[in-house]
Amino acid sequence: MHLISTFPSDLSEEPALLRRPVDDPVWNNICRKVQKRYAFFDGSTRQILASLASMITSLIHLLDPVMDELCKRTCRFCSDICCVGSEVYYNETDLFYFAACGKGYPRGQTRRTGEVSLCRYWYPCFGCLLPRSQRPYTCTWFICSDQSQLLETLFKPRDIRRINASFESIRRLRLILSSIFMKSGDLGYEFSKLLE
Ligand code: SF4
Ligand code: SF4
Repeated sequence: MHLISTFPSDLSEEPALLRRPVDDPVWNNICRKVQKRYAFFDGSTRQILASLASMITSLIHLLDPVMDELCKRTCRFCSDICCVGSEVYYNETDLFYFAACGKGYPRGQTRRTGEVSLCRYWYPCFGCLLPRSQRPYTCTWFICSDQSQLLETLFKPRDIRRINASFESIRRLRLILSSIFMKSGDLGYEFSKLLE
């Protein structure tokens, strides 16, 4: 993998202030704030961020068929669909990733204020309407217990090691990406003001 993946990160966890319901106007302001911060970086930093985002995207594409296979065999028989019941949200790192990809932002947080049960991107009989790389990363990272068992039966140990290595690389790359954004100013404070 590219040398950039060995950059140090100041963070051991991704920031999670945004992991909550957000109304669309506030969401748009938050995305504008992230975009403004991205535009503020010099050319070489933007290049590094773009490389990080591109490596993350490639790894997500590698994982996509694996996750699709697991979902195809489990989700439609599930009585407790996690997109409906669980509180899954975009976090700051997802937005930094979208900024560095340069392809725009999702039209809103997964839930607006007061909406607690259903992700806005979930559609009955279809599932998620978003391509995997545009979902909150936690939607790709999360493997429920049924899928975890299935993974062991469908894939060889060597493939499972490769899958786990991809998850670990994405984790590291996302921490570096977040670290660069968070070090560039007090974004946490700016987000908390917008969320008030
Ligand atoms: S990932 Fe697991 S818990 Fe979520 S809907 Fe699919 S089978 Fe159900
Ligand atoms: S973004 Fe897609 S995968 Fe994630 S919770 Fe919403 S519907 Fe489910």
